[in-house]
Amino acid sequence: MISPKDIQRFKEIKTPFYFYNLALLEETLQVVKKASNPYNYHVHYALKANSNNKILTLIQSYGFGADCVSGNEIKKAIECNFPASSIAFAGVGKSDEEINIALDNEIFCFNCESIPEMEVINELAKAKNKIATIALRINPNVNAKTHHYITTGLEENKFGINPWEFETVIETLKKLTHLKLIGLHFHIGSQITDLNVFKGLCLRVNEIQEWFYNHQIIVEHINVGGGLGVNYENPEQSPIPDFEAFFGLFHQFLQLRPQQHLHFELGRSIVAQCGNLITKVLYVKKGLNTSFMILDAGMTELIRPALYQASHSIKNLTSTSKTTERYDVVGPICESSDCFAKALLLPTTVRGDIIAIQTAGAYGEVMASRYNLRDLVTAHYSF
Ligand SMILES: *Cc1c(COP(=O)(O)O)cnc(C)c1O
Repeated sequence: MISPKDIQRFKEIKTPFYFYNLALLEETLQVVKKASNPYNYHVHYALKANSNNKILTLIQSYGFGADCVSGNEIKKAIECNFPASSIAFAGVGKSDEEINIALDNEIFCFNCESIPEMEVINELAKAKNKIATIALRINPNVNAKTHHYITTGLEENKFGINPWEFETVIETLKKLTHLKLIGLHFHIGSQITDLNVFKGLCLRVNEIQEWFYNHQIIVEHINVGGGLGVNYENPEQSPIPDFEAFFGLFHQFLQLRPQQHLHFELGRSIVAQCGNLITKVLYVKKGLNTSFMILDAGMTELIRPALYQASHSIKNLTSTSKTTERYDVVGPICESSDCFAKALLLPTTVRGDIIAIQTAGAYGEVMASRYNLRDLVTAHYSF
């Protein structure tokens, strides 16, 4: 995915930086379109995975909707020409200001996570003499079998409305005259690589739909969120996730009522593989059992390993050494969690070698910080 010409170019650019392969992103978007179009599924891109302008503009040009989790993401989506009528707004703690931004822009749908939130949206909509269209974010109690920090659909999680609250929710909604219920929403977690998990979600959604149907509630929209995982171990082997199998599975197992639309909110699976974090080796230092490879990028540029023990494939792009060694690949930040890999076998590395941390397009640049007063990481592109 990184060509010799790219590597030549990297030598001229100040590291660290994100390097996005926009050709791969385009190819991915085409595959998503081709796999979802036969079923008329609606795909919303989850901005929080990567809200880089060039990436958003490209995704928007393919006609995808947007999934936002803050007022600023709504503003950003609109700036990048995503139609307001395609914007879903999720989040367990929407502030009044953010709700007002969504109301002013007349977005597609609020994904509501609690009764108190519905009451506030109703109040604010009333003050503007508007009707807010909402979906109920339901906690289906389905185990995503992913890292517990990115599991969101279990009873113990803070997200969504639990089934034992449904009756109360329906009663409350009758009184909230400035809300219109148009959908049911689910999002059970991220980096889900076992497609059986999504089958389990489909079966739960069918049961929950049945419950609402029996209570005379038929909604127009079902939204099953995102969460499709990518191959972090071996990105070259599967640069594009199997979207055909993913959408096909929903087609097979999710029972839609007539006229019902199915929505997805995909983040990681669209952008993860098109991004690499490019960094230089500052020092190689002997340790107890392995050597430390100290990079000029750390958790300030890519926090996933420190935040949820994520592991990324790491490549030395410039070493010509025939020998290999084991390295603890670490960043320069004053935290012991600032570590990308332990005892990783790599070609013998020297100061100045250029390293690629792969599959960094999702939840990478967006989570960058200025901790230690470091410069905010920049981005470069190939087309
Ligand atoms: C984060 C998030 C997504 C996107 O998840 P991915 O795993 O990146 O596909 C979708 N919907 C909601 C509500 C989210 O919070």
